[in-house]
Amino acid sequence: MVGQVALNGGRFFGIQPRRRCYSAAVRTVIYPGSFDPLTNGHLDLIERAARLFDRVIVAVAENSDKQPLFSTPERVQLVAGAIHHLPNVTADGFDGLLVDYVTQRQGVAVIRGLRAVSDFEFEFQLALMNRKLNESVETIFLTPKETYTFLSSRIVKEIARLGGDVAQFVPAHVQSAMTAKLRRTP
Ligand code: ADP
Repeated sequence: MVGQVALNGGRFFGIQPRRRCYSAAVRTVIYPGSFDPLTNGHLDLIERAARLFDRVIVAVAENSDKQPLFSTPERVQLVAGAIHHLPNVTADGFDGLLVDYVTQRQGVAVIRGLRAVSDFEFEFQLALMNRKLNESVETIFLTPKETYTFLSSRIVKEIARLGGDVAQFVPAHVQSAMTAKLRRTP
């Protein structure tokens, strides 16, 4: 039993529960990605992370290798518009090394998603490289609800470009933003 004997002037006051040393520090986790745009699969992971950690930062990457449909501020806005119901989640944009961003935001870990075995190789490589760059950065993998395992931003964009209905794959405000964007840049 966790407890300690409290003595006062030689008088026995019985067994007192030991003060548990919970850290006062807020446990922040970073969920990085392109989010071009945010899908219901991403949102599923954000909700899971929000239940596990004190604070979740959805970190939208400025990725120079990719030609995104939405700019970084637009992608951050789309994430922000989907997390009103989650008070411990915020959206942010970042540039540069993920491990540096995690340190700067005092994150305890990075969240990544595994939809299928096909994600594994890339995600495993990324996690090990980030560990090589900074030993203290852990990566935690979460899996979404089965119905979201086939979902990716790339497929959603392809469907929308071809005039398909993406209502069941993305939040309503993301769908509107995609329709408006594709009307301007088909
Ligand atoms: P990146 O370009 O960094 O892969 P993405 O926005 O495509 O950015 O994905 C960010 C993370 O979210 C990745 O770990 C990816 O595997 C995960 N992810 C993407 N879509 C889903 C989904 N439908 N369900 C669960 N995780 C997902």
